[in-house]
Amino acid sequence: MIIGSPSLMQAMSTAHRREGRTVGFVPTMGALHDGHMALIREARLRADFVVVSIFVNPKQFDKEKDLNSYPHTLEADLKLCHAAGVDVVLSPPVDAIYPAGYCTNISAGPLGRVLEGRSRNGHFDGVCTVLTSFFSIVQPHFAVFGEKDFQQLLVVKRLVRDLHFPIEIVPIPVLRDIDGLALSSRNVRLNKRNRQRALCLFKTLSSVQERVFEGEVRARVLLRDARARLKNTPDFKLDYCLIVEPYVLNSIETVSDGARLLLAGTIGTGKNQVRLLDNSPLFIGGQ
Ligand code: AMP
Repeated sequence: MIIGSPSLMQAMSTAHRREGRTVGFVPTMGALHDGHMALIREARLRADFVVVSIFVNPKQFDKEKDLNSYPHTLEADLKLCHAAGVDVVLSPPVDAIYPAGYCTNISAGPLGRVLEGRSRNGHFDGVCTVLTSFFSIVQPHFAVFGEKDFQQLLVVKRLVRDLHFPIEIVPIPVLRDIDGLALSSRNVRLNKRNRQRALCLFKTLSSVQERVFEGEVRARVLLRDARARLKNTPDFKLDYCLIVEPYVLNSIETVSDGARLLLAGTIGTGKNQVRLLDNSPLFIGGQ
């Protein structure tokens, strides 16, 4: 079932909760792929009533060009959701979420101003604002998020703690294509050549992990080589390449188990430019 009205959704969730059913929520911007489907499968396993939102949130885009070029595939998305046993697809029009006169914004704070937040002004404030709204509309017991957007996952965990939302945040590891490229709705905008070049991110993650297995734990050394590899990729513009501790995203000097390697940049030029994001935990000492 597809619902566009926030108040109808709210009433439906309230009724399910009253009957003692578990409500699970998967927020997305649509153009669904197997990465999203992994989140949906997890929600289906855990919940009696599964809600997937499809909403391209204008507040989290700082460039109109990026917003306008975001892929829309609602019909295909609905079929996928139906096949996956989703109970409700919540797909409200923009003015149902931000009606005339809307003026409340949630700030993501310091965690929202680094990394992705530095390159995309106001991005995480937009994410926190729309999620606050959606959490109050859907009233889920838990919500599922991908580690693909690792900083977003931390920002959301912080939001839920800070504002006392009684919602469990369930993380799902990054899903990849067979050759290692992290699945993303933006991948459909990659031409064949850039699709191949975009593999530089996964190759970098793998080669850093290999060196850590071999015993190199100095972040400075690992990052120097990783950046050199990325900068050697034609048409790839590196935004950041960092090794951070996985809770507040501070850069670290020595890799410890679970430290996170975060990569971001763009591939291609002009109209064909696509932002790429990837990350991986680093493990010490072999399999
Ligand atoms: P989006 O539609 O890009 O806003 O993503 C919706 C949710 O799906 C977010 O929690 C993302 O982190 C998650 N997601 C997107 N791509 C992947 C992926 N390749 N693996 C795991 N989760 C993903």
